[in-house]
Amino acid sequence: MRLKLLLPVVVPTKFESPKKCVRAGCPGMRFIPRQAVGKKIVDAQYPEVTAWRYECVKCGCTFRVYPAGVSKKQVSKRVNGMAVMLYLLGLSYGAVEIVLGSLGIGIGKTSVYRAVQSAAEKVPGMRREKLMDGYKTKAVGADVTSIRCNGEWIPIGIAVDATNGLVLSIDRLPGEDAEQLKAWLEPILDAVDADVLVTDDADGFKIVSDETGRSQQVCKSHVGRNTDALVDELSAILCSGQDHSLDAIEVTPEQALADLATLKSLIHSRRPKDQPQLEHMYLRYANARKPGKGQKHDLAYRLRNLFMDRWNLWPRLTFYRTWKDDYGYLILDGTNNDCERSIGWWVKERYRSMRGYKREQSALAVCRLTAYAGNNLSRGLKLATLIA
Ligand SMILES: [Zn+2]
Repeated sequence: MRLKLLLPVVVPTKFESPKKCVRAGCPGMRFIPRQAVGKKIVDAQYPEVTAWRYECVKCGCTFRVYPAGVSKKQVSKRVNGMAVMLYLLGLSYGAVEIVLGSLGIGIGKTSVYRAVQSAAEKVPGMRREKLMDGYKTKAVGADVTSIRCNGEWIPIGIAVDATNGLVLSIDRLPGEDAEQLKAWLEPILDAVDADVLVTDDADGFKIVSDETGRSQQVCKSHVGRNTDALVDELSAILCSGQDHSLDAIEVTPEQALADLATLKSLIHSRRPKDQPQLEHMYLRYANARKPGKGQKHDLAYRLRNLFMDRWNLWPRLTFYRTWKDDYGYLILDGTNNDCERSIGWWVKERYRSMRGYKREQSALAVCRLTAYAGNNLSRGLKLATLIA
């Protein structure tokens, strides 16, 4: 996990003049400073600042104006920012209280908790109802993971901009079937106007891609790994000579071994034009019979399924090879690595996941807050924008 966080500052001499009256419905626009009042604060540098009491010319009500970095609360924005920063770095709420306390800054762990939650609530965008205002991208990467919360595993969906890795949304999912994935993803795809969905090779995502009319890139690393493992396993069974199911479809073990070797090589070269070759191999096994109910799938039937699946998958596996920008460069790299990296950095963030997030809402909020900090890695996240 990498973070770049900019702390709010306290500037006792910097005031913004009031612009509207605090009384609801009062149209007052002019205010007279009446009195300077001392205010004790919890801060790393200033034990006390001066606030100004203003009076509304229109209605006569009075209110206070505080210097930059101070609100009506006792704790300065800088200290709230420090609390959020330490928490994001992996300390528990109680540990943040201890660290700040040892520096002479008195803030209870309940206040630390509130500072973190309130900062998390202000994270813009990361809710599907209101995705980053007007943000557009051509491709969305999606993945599902889970976090442990109150002793229960909760599925979490994460959606990223697949062209640059920015996190778009982190949401609790009711489940991982195709309908539930679609209910989660379709509004996101619509909001950012994406044409392409990037995922691992789970079937649910293929259905989402088909039903929402989006092209799909299935992660080449996932497919490569899964295919290699299957090819090795099936080749070993062939070499052992114990399965004779190929006899029925008149395919020799030598032929099957050669086909598997070809598949392994094609799956790593991933040329769009090789799809007919996969179809050709599939047809050799197409007549393998499905074993009866409760019977184990024999070698011939497993070969049939493997070749059929990879033949059908081909356009989704090689999509990135055919999708280029105006200069002829590939837009995607063919993997779903952005999603996996985001899950590793922002959701499975190692310190807290071991202890288990306590409350579901707060767990999600913290994931979103860390991801948002990640989105702002290059310029640094100004915590002042999230601290009340
Ligand atoms: Zn007024």
